[in-house]
Amino acid sequence: MRFFVPTDIYIENDCVKNHAKNLLAVGKCALVMTGRHSAAANGSLKDVTAVLAAGKVSFLVFNEVEENPSTDTLRKAASIARKFKVDFVIGIGGGSAIDAAKAVALLLSNPDVDADDLHKVPGHPLEHLPVVAVPTTCGTGSEATLVAIITNHKINLKKSIPHVIFPTLALVDGKYLASAKKQLIVNTAVDALAHMVESILNVKSNAFNRMFPEYGLKLWGECKDALLADSDVEASLYEKLMLTSTIAGMSIAHTSTTLPHGMSYDLTLHANVPHGPAVGYFLAAYTEVCAKFVPQDVDKILELLGLKTLDEFTAMIQKLIGTYTVTREMRDNFAAAMKVNRSKLDLAPGPITAEDVDYIYEKSLIVG
Ligand code: NAP
Ligand code: ZN
Repeated sequence: MRFFVPTDIYIENDCVKNHAKNLLAVGKCALVMTGRHSAAANGSLKDVTAVLAAGKVSFLVFNEVEENPSTDTLRKAASIARKFKVDFVIGIGGGSAIDAAKAVALLLSNPDVDADDLHKVPGHPLEHLPVVAVPTTCGTGSEATLVAIITNHKINLKKSIPHVIFPTLALVDGKYLASAKKQLIVNTAVDALAHMVESILNVKSNAFNRMFPEYGLKLWGECKDALLADSDVEASLYEKLMLTSTIAGMSIAHTSTTLPHGMSYDLTLHANVPHGPAVGYFLAAYTEVCAKFVPQDVDKILELLGLKTLDEFTAMIQKLIGTYTVTREMRDNFAAAMKVNRSKLDLAPGPITAEDVDYIYEKSLIVG
């Protein structure tokens, strides 16, 4: 067994300000990567740039990261940052901004690698500049994982890149959720739920990795009524949701994700479904299939969430994210691709058959 999450992680109110020294120690010239609006709107960009300015660390803001960051955006950011001679990269935002920061940190240390080649497996580990992560959604846990999920539109591929890029520092502050709409909080919380469930229903699951989802699922269970309610989530829960998301990230840092994530990428790529729901649609049926192999683990997950049956689990997810309709052709194409996706199939806790894959798609996506 091995435990390895080398990121220095702080989770508290006013986290960026409180840990200004840690942030300033990372480098002398920063590329700050954000999406177009949210980091400016929720105060996270201002918190970071105030610390950098006060500490005389120069910085350049690149605010063009789109949802599901593309290789074209990464290339553009790296090319601008090279002229500025940055020595670290800060990602502020949801998983998209943080993953983009990780990938650009890799490109900056490897000028011979084009962004379109990031998915190719290199002959040896590649270096990267240090990365700082400031998450503003409660889902991906990218601040505590080694992976970056990148989209290459030229070859219709959304996938993690095969490089280990743990952030050096993660500064996690629940208050940035105040600007998020309820559905964004719900969508990203469903992603965190999936990370923990997929981490337990996983061939790599062991005593180390289980510490995280077993505690995180209990926290998630304590938030579930607020997520299911029609009203907005109370501010007092923001920190718990963020903590759960970071813990869920630590869970998959050990095990990786399995089928629901593998299945989600096509749905996002071809139907533009946001990451959380795209994963969530497949979660209950995957859990049901895994009950054949590890029934005691499925029972444990339900118990930690405060649920009694798999039907309750299915109904809860459906209330949170609804259902999704695709054409038969799309569903068949997605299923055909998943049946040969050994990198995800081999992580399931038992031998998933082609019939199981078809069953998960049939249960998870409506054909219309
Ligand atoms: P996201 O794609 O980063 O952001 C979704 C939307 O939420 C964007 O429009 C963003 O606006 C907005 N937003 C972000 N924070 C907000 C806030 N506090 N208030 C209001 N709006 C806010 O969403 P995400 O679900 O966090 O990340 C999804 C990506 O992460 C996917 O590419 C997924 O594959 C990847 N992922 C990575 C890992 C990992 O371990 N690396 C794990 C799971 C998923 P702006 O564009 O204006 O910022
Ligand atoms: Zn995810």
